[in-house]
Amino acid sequence: MGFLNVSILIVGGGPAGSLSAINIGRRGEHEIVIVEEHQSAGFPVQCAGLISDACYSELKKFSKRSLVNRIKGAFFFSPDGGYVELIGRRKGVVVERKILDVELLEKASEYAEVILKSSYLFSKIRESSQNIAKIRTPSGITGIKYDFLIGADGANSRIAKEFSFTKGEIYSAVQFEMKFECLDENMVELYFGEKYSDGFFAYSIPLDSSTARIGVVSKTEPIRFLSNLLNKHPSVKQRKGGSITELNAGAIPIGLNEVVKGNVCLIGDSAGMVKPYTGGGLYYHLVASKVLGKSFPDLEGFKKEYLKVMGKEYTTGEKILRLYKLLSDADYCDLVRLGKEYIETHSEKLDMDHPSTILQFIPSLLKIFVRKPLLVAKITKELL
Ligand SMILES: Cc1cc2nc3c(=O)[nH]c(=O)nc-3n(C[C@H](O)[C@H](O)[C@H](O)COP(=O)(O)OP(=O)(O)OC[C@H]3O[C@@H](n4cnc5c(N)ncnc54)[C@H](O)[C@@H]3O)c2cc1C
Repeated sequence: MGFLNVSILIVGGGPAGSLSAINIGRRGEHEIVIVEEHQSAGFPVQCAGLISDACYSELKKFSKRSLVNRIKGAFFFSPDGGYVELIGRRKGVVVERKILDVELLEKASEYAEVILKSSYLFSKIRESSQNIAKIRTPSGITGIKYDFLIGADGANSRIAKEFSFTKGEIYSAVQFEMKFECLDENMVELYFGEKYSDGFFAYSIPLDSSTARIGVVSKTEPIRFLSNLLNKHPSVKQRKGGSITELNAGAIPIGLNEVVKGNVCLIGDSAGMVKPYTGGGLYYHLVASKVLGKSFPDLEGFKKEYLKVMGKEYTTGEKILRLYKLLSDADYCDLVRLGKEYIETHSEKLDMDHPSTILQFIPSLLKIFVRKPLLVAKITKELL
């Protein structure tokens, strides 16, 4: 068997793999190969495509055609159909992942050899020379010798399992693209309450005034929750249309993994690099790939720097996630009813990429909820 000799083998041609190849490869110091098991990137789609405009302004350097819609804020719905309008400091956009991923991989191919329709199987570890990855290609099993292995192979990462990286929790997401009478074609809608998720939330992300990606993230039974949302939610059931044009489902890893072991590192969903309170991954992958590009080949340095930049966001994000589980339907209704005026006036301080911005709100909000001591106790316990 003839071997390919490279310094870096990246497994996975999704956003995390492509962005890693771009950010390491632009230094021109390493030979890089990406192996991707599908015949193209971005398939099957497992994403609603919502990212901040700050994230998009970096991604659009590589992806010119993926923009679908612009987002100015979100409606935060309590289970009784009441809502608060949040217009944050950061605006957002909706992108088409089928296009974004292909364009990112095209850009990555300027810095890396991309081998499609080929699956990474396992590595043969050798003490004194390069390790060998076994790859299944359409013409049989082949070997790639490498110095560094980067697992950008998604939430069910084979590399994380093979090298026994510790893992966070896995949530599930199910989403329909369908006709929907959006309240505002530039506002996301978030639906809270025990009928619509166990410990997370459901959402609709508008593509235009009459089409949206409507989905649920939950620990269990996402299909049942999505059915509840479409058929029982006081506001959604009135506005849903008949035809579903696309179904999307996938895993959402919550909680950062180990990230680095020797000459192997994980990036993207494989590493749990996802906002714990929304399940959004792209911004965290972008940040991680930039840090990796700067630190490489110091993988421990990559981990340290990533934690320095993003650690606080994980800590706050995980607190918000725990709060979703603690709040009852009645609490959500109180939050929206009593907090509406204050939140709507002050929401411009919020940044969707940085949940820590929420903390500055809490002391004033608590004063508003003074006659709801249980609600105050729950928020204080988790967020302060
Ligand atoms: C329903 C849903 C909605 C979402 N909505 C949003 C959103 O609105 N905004 C947002 O930012 N994030 C969202 N996310 C999360 C986002 O989609 C992920 O964080 C992102 O796709 C992860 O990128 P990745 O490159 O780490 O992994 P992936 O995109 O999963 O890419 C991994 C790649 O590795 C390949 N691969 C896997 N194993 C092997 C192997 N053994 N050999 C070769 N190749 C392999 C796969 O084929 C795949 O192409 C959503 C997720 C879901 C499930």
